[in-house]
Amino acid sequence: MSECVIPNLTSNEVVASKSVLPDGWKADLSNLKVLDLTLPVLELLRRTTSRLPQDVIDALVKGRDAEEEGSRAFNTLNDMVRNINLADGQVTPLCQDTGTVIFWVRHPFGLSQVAAKKQIREAVKQATKNVYLRPNCVEALSGKNLGNNMDPFHEGHPVVHFEEWDKPEIEVGVMLKGGGCENVGAQYRLPDATIGAGRDIKGVRKCIIDAVVKAQGQGCSPGILGVAIGGDRVTGYEKSKEVILRRLGTKNPVPAMDAFEKEVTRDLNTLGIGPMGYGGTTTALGVHVEEMFRHPASFYVSISYMCWSSRRQVLKIGSTGEVSFD
Ligand code: SF4
Repeated sequence: MSECVIPNLTSNEVVASKSVLPDGWKADLSNLKVLDLTLPVLELLRRTTSRLPQDVIDALVKGRDAEEEGSRAFNTLNDMVRNINLADGQVTPLCQDTGTVIFWVRHPFGLSQVAAKKQIREAVKQATKNVYLRPNCVEALSGKNLGNNMDPFHEGHPVVHFEEWDKPEIEVGVMLKGGGCENVGAQYRLPDATIGAGRDIKGVRKCIIDAVVKAQGQGCSPGILGVAIGGDRVTGYEKSKEVILRRLGTKNPVPAMDAFEKEVTRDLNTLGIGPMGYGGTTTALGVHVEEMFRHPASFYVSISYMCWSSRRQVLKIGSTGEVSFD
């Protein structure tokens, strides 16, 4: 019988001692023209690739402890916890697939998006050289890999979303989105007679259940489902990824949607798919849903599936220049 592994992340002091940022590094936000985000973003990637967020770890442990001890589901989740400890302790990637690299940058007026994008791209190149990231970016048709995680055609990878806000601080969120789980994402156009889904919340529920049944263990379950109701084909998928950034266990600000998320998560966990498709009661760690506008003629439900190795983190640069990671 497998020993029950206890999550044992290294302390914040140990993480900080391995930082690529010089001791006491601070940004000068009084002069955004000369701000260089390269090093803090490199540090963000170093931390994100090897360290799962605590809420994801807690959900995996809770799932494991709910499975029958010694079952395949229990052992698989237990191995995931062992994997989490090893990756964190050795500062090595949690999974061989370090995903598509997606950033969300929120910044005050005055920051040059052109300069920031250059610096973020440089950080990704450096992170690939340092083996925090696997070179995951290939030419679509030939499969040729330049080895630096840069889109060989334009600037499509890494993906960088910018938003100017009226706060003085800067936030850079990152998600490493695995290829296996990306493959099982789905977009539905309602009504959809094939699954009996109409243009209402019951129809949305059917889409989510259908996507997870089709995915089985192939998205490296247990998964976190990001769901956007509405939007167009692009904005729906974008939103469905962004909502995965919300911490597991936090409430949806819309009470009816919060109840829906909890109900669907419960339902998904009765499907018997379990971790990696080996059966059990831990198929989904959570479902996050957001409603958007839509064109009257269109009703899309866009679903992004995030695998158990749900790597995300936010770099915060406060108004006085201090850096923190959350
Ligand atoms: S889907 Fe996730 S856990 Fe599975 S191989 Fe890809 S990154 Fe790793």
